[in-house]
Amino acid sequence: MSVDAVPEKLLTWYDAHHRRLPWRAGPGEAPTDPYRVWLSEIMLQQTTVAAVKPYFDRFTARWPTVADLAAADEAEVMSAWAGLGYYARARNLIACARAVTDDHGARFPDSEAGLRALPGIGDYSAAAIAAIAFGRRAVVIDANVERVASRIFAFDQPLPKGRPALRALVDSITPDRRAGDFAQAMMDLGSSICTPRAPQCLLCPLSPDCTARMTGRPEAFPVKAAKRPKPQRLGTAFWIEHDDRVWLVRRPDKGMLGGMRALPSGPWGDDDPGLAGAPVDAAWREAGSVDHVFTHFALKLRVVSAAHPGQVGVGEWWPIDTIADAGLPTLFARAAARAIADRDAQEH
Ligand code: SF4
Repeated sequence: MSVDAVPEKLLTWYDAHHRRLPWRAGPGEAPTDPYRVWLSEIMLQQTTVAAVKPYFDRFTARWPTVADLAAADEAEVMSAWAGLGYYARARNLIACARAVTDDHGARFPDSEAGLRALPGIGDYSAAAIAAIAFGRRAVVIDANVERVASRIFAFDQPLPKGRPALRALVDSITPDRRAGDFAQAMMDLGSSICTPRAPQCLLCPLSPDCTARMTGRPEAFPVKAAKRPKPQRLGTAFWIEHDDRVWLVRRPDKGMLGGMRALPSGPWGDDDPGLAGAPVDAAWREAGSVDHVFTHFALKLRVVSAAHPGQVGVGEWWPIDTIADAGLPTLFARAAARAIADRDAQEH
């Protein structure tokens, strides 16, 4: 058994079975506009293809080129991003579009190093864009590639510590030609056949070359280090309403969900903050709570509501029946839904 034939077999499989995606050229077609490749790669970080498609279509219809995105109103872009999560990425998206437009004449650099120097583009994205948009030989490793490669080699070092060694193995099977197609083929194989729980080895073009299949337990790879539980934090969000409107604020640019529209909320910490940070004195009513998991911690956000006429501070009164258009990030959209459900229950 040898892995020498892996690239060729995989590319042959890809030519026949590749996924059609709006940001992708088919095998052998001219590479897609680097703007579209870049936008899709940033959107796909931590998010599924199915979730990204409608956002990608909306963004490219509204801002068809990198220069259009660079000139866009920042708040508008943040609102259009709402729901995709990880909002620092949206801020970097705007910063990157502006850097490409101002410093590179609206053309993306075509090397990994040049791409990596741009805001929000890390090792993975730089490799993916260089390979997919510019046909460069680059070693592209996302979660799908990591899984497929760890199985081909039955790589038994726990991740993430074993990543450098796994990278060297992926490098060893990355072809000089069609590196972009090869990366996308690995991703497609990982999402359709070499899936996390039930890999379909009988359908896999790499079956004769795969060491994990020989072990009889391919799903045991990749080996992951035991996860530490995420710390639990507590917070309170304030739903203040008047005249069928709710008081919304914009979060500070720096920090969690920076720059996003939100319900006012107090500090998030290890202890219950109670009503600390309440923007007004009011007769607060408990409206329930929502649980939300961020990258580094889990948050239980208690929602309290009250009626309060007049100005509250810096913010805006937003019509409750169009709250879906406020561009609230998922956490606050769920907190708002909780408050509205509580309000409806009070009225009936
Ligand atoms: S043979 Fe099975 S485990 Fe190996 S790459 Fe193919 S689907 Fe994955």
